Amino acid sequence: MGTILDTVVIGGGAMGSAAAWALARRGRQVTLLEQFGPGHHIGASHGTTRNFNPGYHRPEYVAMLAEGVALWDELEQDSGEQLLARTGIVNHGPDPQLALIQAALTGAGLQAEFLRPEEAAERWRGIRFDQQVLHMPDGGQLNPEAALPAFQRLAAARGAEIRHHTRVVDLAIMDDGVRLTLEAEGAANGTEVVTAAQAVVTAGGWTEKLLSGAAGSGKLRFPRLRVTQEQPAHFRVADEGAVWPGFNHMPGTGPTYKGWYSPVYGMRTPGEGIKAGWHGAGPEVDPDRRSFLPEPVQLAALQDYARTWLPGVDADSLEAISCTYTSTPDEDFILDRIGPVVIGAGFSGHGFKFTPVVGRILADLATGTRPAPQIFSASR
Ligand SMILES: Cc1cc2nc3c(=O)[nH]c(=O)nc-3n(C[C@H](O)[C@H](O)[C@H](O)COP(=O)(O)OP(=O)(O)OC[C@H]3O[C@@H](n4cnc5c(N)ncnc54)[C@H](O)[C@@H]3O)c2cc1C
Repeated sequence: MGTILDTVVIGGGAMGSAAAWALARRGRQVTLLEQFGPGHHIGASHGTTRNFNPGYHRPEYVAMLAEGVALWDELEQDSGEQLLARTGIVNHGPDPQLALIQAALTGAGLQAEFLRPEEAAERWRGIRFDQQVLHMPDGGQLNPEAALPAFQRLAAARGAEIRHHTRVVDLAIMDDGVRLTLEAEGAANGTEVVTAAQAVVTAGGWTEKLLSGAAGSGKLRFPRLRVTQEQPAHFRVADEGAVWPGFNHMPGTGPTYKGWYSPVYGMRTPGEGIKAGWHGAGPEVDPDRRSFLPEPVQLAALQDYARTWLPGVDADSLEAISCTYTSTPDEDFILDRIGPVVIGAGFSGHGFKFTPVVGRILADLATGTRPAPQIFSASR
């Protein structure tokens, strides 16, 4: 019959680690299963920087931002680690939503002010601005390589079992729980069968594969998940004296934006340079069959962008990064429960800032405390 567990969390990336922390804090017995080792670079949660960009106006996200500020604080207190560097964030370009964002953030008690391009250029000379700039001082950079071990360490300290190098190769959904077949390093004959009252599935780019292949998955309906291989790059800092906020640059129409693939996001990564990247423009991939190699035309276009808009970097000296986005058609997350399965997926390129809040929502769904906001429903 194998081991019977309470809650298994499948996937030890950002969201699974946060769910394990949130459940362990509520005294639930949690087992976190991760197919790769700690700190692996094969999913979406590696590296030392992610923007905590408050640039949202929809009420559900604005509420999650405010809660996120408090929960990242709590995690910093609990872990004794600095996880959020408050460098501020600037969003600029002809984006009609900036005024909505400013109103929504100030309404929620978060700071947001418009600056003239000259003012912004004076403060941040590494970036070129040509029109409206929204400055959000509460924003900054989060550090995944410190945050994930902190979530897992604190969850383990409260009794959670954290199992790396353990891949769920089969999932069966039953009325009263789930049965999992695990491929675990060191397991007697290579596989092990466990059952659990419920599973929290936070498998990132592997979610659709795992769930659509599951016995009993006929009951599961959720938006299509598109996995892309994204390729931002770290550019060498050319102006050591420049101060860097996180930044997002929205394109408009016309020759100025010729050759752009999407909005550009970026930030300073201490010790590695200035990260800049296209958002969600990478090729669709199977997460188990990736090249990890940058697509050269896109990379060249990113260098052109840096030459024009990032005077503070050396556009010819760069290191490409490879990472996956898992996106739904409407770019909203999936946070929902179907029978014994709780799903946390579709975090695209904007999920990390919400990680502890997603953990809280997944724990609420797993403990039946409260539903997730409707915009995240799997049946939308
Ligand atoms: C280049 C890039 C830049 C980004 N920038 C930002 C940013 O500036 N701000 C922001 O807020 N967000 C950003 N994001 C988004 C953010 O990083 C992701 O949304 C987030 O990390 C997703 O976490 P996850 O836990 O869903 O996925 P993952 O980290 O991929 O975790 C899924 C885990 O599940 C494991 N797994 C899968 N299948 C199995 C199985 N069968 N058995 C066991 N384990 C399994 C995988 O190995 C993996 O570790 C960025 C993402 C990328 C790629």
